[in-house]
This record gives sequence, structure tokens and C-alpha cells, in this order.
Amino acid sequence: MFGSRLEGGRVGAHAAGSEEIAMSDLYPSDLYPSDLLPSALYPTRRRLVTTSLAAVTGLGLVSEHVFAEQLAPTPACHGGDAATISQTEGPFFKPTSPERFDLIEPGMAGQPLEVTGFVLTRSCKPVGGALIDVWQADAKGDYDNSGFRLRGHLFADAEGRFRLRTIVPGNYPGRTRHIHIKVQPPGGSILTTQLYFPGEAKNRKDELFRRELTMRTAKAQGALAGRFDFVLDLG
Ligand code: FE
Repeated sequence: MFGSRLEGGRVGAHAAGSEEIAMSDLYPSDLYPSDLLPSALYPTRRRLVTTSLAAVTGLGLVSEHVFAEQLAPTPACHGGDAATISQTEGPFFKPTSPERFDLIEPGMAGQPLEVTGFVLTRSCKPVGGALIDVWQADAKGDYDNSGFRLRGHLFADAEGRFRLRTIVPGNYPGRTRHIHIKVQPPGGSILTTQLYFPGEAKNRKDELFRRELTMRTAKAQGALAGRFDFVLDLG
């Protein structure tokens, strides 16, 4: 389900279009598929300038005019997809995290990670304004239980798109690498789950690991781009 949903559909078709060819010198498609580009979720020039450029710059990528040439993408979604499964909250959740999409603070160790995607219903309708709460370990595998380091919440935009900037979390005993997430549609019930990283040796040993909660990832100049669409159990 996970693979077919992300690899099929119009996002994939876009990747084969002329825009991708024009960008190929800058973004080798085998390393950085177009649907993984953070800017791919921000189609208008104004949005690119005001909201996407900072994150893109953080990944060491290229200037705004390149992104402005991209077509507006759509999520690769098939009606009737299964909802994203829930997982245990774990012991380290804290309420009232600060609102921010960028959890990276000055001097913070770790590989930068930008996660983009959509919040959708099972029939592929965007869930605009969905709340996304994030908490995770730092690069050493430690949670901040006294403050809000690597904790925050953000909202999907009107089209259900979200963007999170953080670092790749470290492992800690008994767990493979993961990010904790809660997703709540406006006025709706909360989905608590976790996101995982592909290719981790400890995935096989972690009983909580689920393949369908694995992000698609691509490396780009020392940073990592991740893609995941949340499908809520809504019609
Ligand atoms: Fe955890």
C-alpha cells in the first residue's frame, strides 16, 4: 500500500515531465526525486519566496526561480487507501509544545531532515488545518523531558500540505530510529503514530517497527529529505 501510493499517480508522472528534465542538472533524479523536493509542495511563486526558500536553503539547494517553474503536484493517492496505522505514544510525550515547523536550534548536532507530505482522508481529500505534533530524540538518542527541545507542533495548510524541519534522531536502547507524531483534523480525533527510516538495521529487531510507517527518503548534500502522507480514518 505504502509503496504504490507514493510511487504511482500524478506525482510520478510529473517527475517524468519537462520540468524534471530542466532540473536534472541540479537534482540527479536518482538521488532526489521531484516529489521529494520540499518545494514541490509549494507551487506558487509567492509561497516559494515566503515559506519554502528558507527550508530549501537549509538543505543547501538552489534558488527560487528553479522552484517557480515546477508544476503544482498532487499527492499520489488512491481512493480507499487504508488509514495510517496508530502506534503507542511512548513515555516521552509532553503537551503544549511550541508552534513551529523548524525544530533545529543553533548549535544542534545531527543530520538535518526535512519531512514533507500531505494529510489526507481515505478518499484523498486534503485535511486542511490538521494539527501535527512532533517529538523525538536528539542525535544521541535522548529526549528533552525538562524543556521542549525537538518538540513542536505545526499545521497543514488549506491543501493539507505540511513541512517539518528537524534532525535525524539517534537510536536509543530497544528502539530503531523513529519520530513520534500526533495528527488531529480540526475538531476530530487524534491519530498517534511513529515514522520510521528505511534501511535501518534495527528496524528488524524493533517490534514496534512497521514498514507502512516508513518514510521515503533521499539524501541531498548532507541533509535528508523525507516524504510521508498521513491518511486519516475519514471518508
Ligand atoms: Fe521514542
